[in-house]
Amino acid sequence: MTTTADILVIGGGIAGIGAAARLSGSANVVVLESEDVIGRHATGRSAAIFIKNYGNASLRALNAASEPLLATGGDLSDTPFLTPRGELVVATAGEEGDLESYLDGSDGLERVTPAEAVAMFPILNPEYVVAAALERAAQDIDVDRLLQAYARMARHNGARVVASAPATRITRTGGVWQVEAGGETYAAPILVNAAGAWADTVAERAGVRPAGLVPLRRSAAILPAPEGCDVTGWPALVSASETWYAKPEAGKLMVSPADEDPVEPHDAWPEDMVLAEGLHRYEQAMTVPVTRVERSWAGLRTFTADRTPVVGFDPEADGFFWLAGQGGYGIQTSPVLSRLAADLCLSQTSDLPAPLLAALSPARLARA
Ligand SMILES: Cc1cc2nc3c(=O)[nH]c(=O)nc-3n(C[C@H](O)[C@H](O)[C@H](O)COP(=O)(O)OP(=O)(O)OC[C@H]3O[C@@H](n4cnc5c(N)ncnc54)[C@H](O)[C@@H]3O)c2cc1C
Repeated sequence: MTTTADILVIGGGIAGIGAAARLSGSANVVVLESEDVIGRHATGRSAAIFIKNYGNASLRALNAASEPLLATGGDLSDTPFLTPRGELVVATAGEEGDLESYLDGSDGLERVTPAEAVAMFPILNPEYVVAAALERAAQDIDVDRLLQAYARMARHNGARVVASAPATRITRTGGVWQVEAGGETYAAPILVNAAGAWADTVAERAGVRPAGLVPLRRSAAILPAPEGCDVTGWPALVSASETWYAKPEAGKLMVSPADEDPVEPHDAWPEDMVLAEGLHRYEQAMTVPVTRVERSWAGLRTFTADRTPVVGFDPEADGFFWLAGQGGYGIQTSPVLSRLAADLCLSQTSDLPAPLLAALSPARLARA
């Protein structure tokens, strides 16, 4: 038996579930997810922070356009998905240029003195910091609540989210995509490829040329709060050359080596050496040593060559829609990217400016 739909979505991360939510009011949607729950991969492993000035110009436009929904809850929730955090960018000797480039063209960043930076993040070593800036508007994102809100909207509108359903065979006949997943067959004229690190694998399975996506591993560790410190109100902290970052997380500190090692798509885990070296870099900037790692994890941030997501119909494959390459910005841009995916799939006009649509389009990719 074949289950038919208007649109099949492959991938139950924030991208696929967000798109399903936005499509579900106007189309019959089925989401296929390999794992037994949604959000197990990149979505469930993020640093959960909204930084308006993070990424290239296209990303900054997407961040700004996504902020209102995240800040208010929009039509997804009565309560905001963001809570105030702030982010300090600190430069040590030799990193002043990195800080200046970050400040260049940034919106709402203010310079603070090293002493002010230390007052905000009291274990920061005063001898380490030579210059600093604060992005007050950086905020924590409640990722799980956001994902569940999208899922609730999708289900409420009749979308089906099928777990434990890896799409293994994908063919197109008579203008319809046929997908075998979890022992069943699904069919629809439109296929949304929201498979995260596996998006190129899905494309290849469908006989579509890959987008040249590269999954980059990023690791993180949870450290206990330094003795006698309540870290709850501390800002996030990032080195100006982004070689480590730290962030309060449920009364403890999350520290990341900010690693970007290219890997094959897989269920990622941290490499001991990468984590140890990153924690060492962080420790150099602090007045207290790292004594214990409570737990650690890694996830894949998947990028295109120009580090801009790929969103739109493939120019060479009828009904094949890309929603991938969100890199390190997929949570914070999900409000606008899920709407855009729905607008394009439903042949509606997007209110995003044409140059931004062109920057996101698969047509821009130089493909092998
Ligand atoms: C350590 C880390 C920190 C980050 N910090 C932030 C942050 O602070 N802010 C931010 O905005 N972003 C952050 N990101 C990036 C963000 O997490 C990602 O951009 C986003 O989660 C990507 O969502 P996705 O749905 O595309 O991918 P995923 O969440 O990986 O979802 C893809 C899904 O597709 C499924 N799938 C794959 N192949 C198939 C198949 N054949 N059939 C069925 N299902 C399939 C997978 O099982 C997976 O569940 C971070 C990422 C990491 C790893």
